[in-house]
Amino acid sequence: MNVDAVTRELMSTTRGTLLVSEPMSSHTSFRIGGPADVFFVPSDEEDIRVALRSCSQHGVPVTVIGGGTNLLVSDLGIEGLVLRIEGCLAQVTVQGNYITAGAGAPLCRVASVAAEHSLTGLEFAVGIPGTVAGAVAMNSAAHGRSMSDVVSSVRVLRLDGTEVVLQANECEFGEKTSAFQRGELIILEVILRLSAGDQEEIRRLRDRYARDRRAKQPLNYPSAGCVFRNPAGGGAGRYIDQAGCKGLRVGDAEVSRLHANFIVNLGCATASDVTQLIEQVQKLVIDKVGVRLEPEIRFIGR
Ligand SMILES: Cc1cc2nc3c(=O)[nH]c(=O)nc-3n(C[C@H](O)[C@H](O)[C@H](O)COP(=O)(O)OP(=O)(O)OC[C@H]3O[C@@H](n4cnc5c(N)ncnc54)[C@H](O)[C@@H]3O)c2cc1C
Repeated sequence: MNVDAVTRELMSTTRGTLLVSEPMSSHTSFRIGGPADVFFVPSDEEDIRVALRSCSQHGVPVTVIGGGTNLLVSDLGIEGLVLRIEGCLAQVTVQGNYITAGAGAPLCRVASVAAEHSLTGLEFAVGIPGTVAGAVAMNSAAHGRSMSDVVSSVRVLRLDGTEVVLQANECEFGEKTSAFQRGELIILEVILRLSAGDQEEIRRLRDRYARDRRAKQPLNYPSAGCVFRNPAGGGAGRYIDQAGCKGLRVGDAEVSRLHANFIVNLGCATASDVTQLIEQVQKLVIDKVGVRLEPEIRFIGR
């Protein structure tokens, strides 16, 4: 692995932003994570192609992230290049019932554009932070709806630089999962298929969902949203609450007292604190409620 060679090549041939030994705590909603060897925000698709080519030539691993709102990054950081597709590739266009969004477009903005055009189907996305690509990769969901309900197709780059368009049925969507989580495909653009709706009804629903979120989520502390997937037949938060885990704490990581499926960073939590807390919650829930919880958040890094 020759990180220096990649750094030199990207500095001389791309227009993107390149940072060396960049603390990931500055780029995750948890405010946790050690340094990325190289952190690169491309300015366009060509920059991504150049970065992939260079990393492949020099044996440097690539990790793609969006807004960093569903990640727990190791305290030891991330080996190789972190490709951050946020604040770039963010164009959003509407044609009939279809919205085409660049990977880095904020999901909330895409949802607002849908509402402005009286398109229904994306109201559930109000208040979900992060990018549209991150939401597709996570198959993000709320209020009984998920991205898989609205994705029509996804244009991606493979790590070898070849481009391909995947139809929704090729994305392997499941509960908070998709083919993109294997880290072998980089989403460049997403096409969503929505339906014509009533603007007033869309506004009412969006307002209700936003209010709900403000009341039920601990938005005043850093977090990565819900930590565990909902097991079949029940909400993870309810089981965690039943097991008496609200307020459980390791270091500065605490199971939220407001929403049991959130772990919040009270100030100086580390990835190690959060991981230990996750293990404690899993053990208590299995011992007391008999349910095995699987994390939804993505663990990345060394
Ligand atoms: C306060 C709060 C509330 C939340 N509420 C919800 C909620 O209601 N519902 C919900 O589902 N989630 C929720 N989340 C979690 C998170 O916001 C979503 O999962 C979000 O869609 C992740 O997007 P992101 O851009 O931040 O992705 P990241 O966290 O950066 O990445 C997540 C995954 O997507 C992959 N990825 C990102 N970009 C690309 C790309 N261009 N190509 C390929 N793979 C990519 C990454 O490799 C990683 O595996 C919440 C989080 C917070 C902090």
